[in-house]
Amino acid sequence: MLPLLIKKAVWNFYSKRAEEEVEKILKVYSKKLGIAPPTFKVKHQRRRWGSCSADNVLRINFQLVMAPPEQLEYVVVHELCHVIEKNHSARFWKLVKQLMPDYEVYRKSLKKEGWKYML
Ligand SMILES: [Zn+2]
Repeated sequence: MLPLLIKKAVWNFYSKRAEEEVEKILKVYSKKLGIAPPTFKVKHQRRRWGSCSADNVLRINFQLVMAPPEQLEYVVVHELCHVIEKNHSARFWKLVKQLMPDYEVYRKSLKKEGWKYML
């Protein structure tokens, strides 16, 4: 076990990096969708990679900064598409594919390897 102070410093470091990355990705893809970049929070979550609330606040698991960048990108794109489609309908997946044509590769690899990045 890491001493609490060090653990905190490590977490702060990673969440800052995650925030910067997520902001960059949201900027690019919001522009493609023609919407303003939504508010987001980078959080430590044990079981999920991301979520989008009813009032369009995105929550992204900061542990994704330890994953390959495309996997973080996929999660951000996925949650961003929920701003427009609040479900996993065919229309939703079409939108994801439009933004990230090879998303299925990253969706699968995240499912397979994602547990490795969970603290
Ligand atoms: Zn979803």
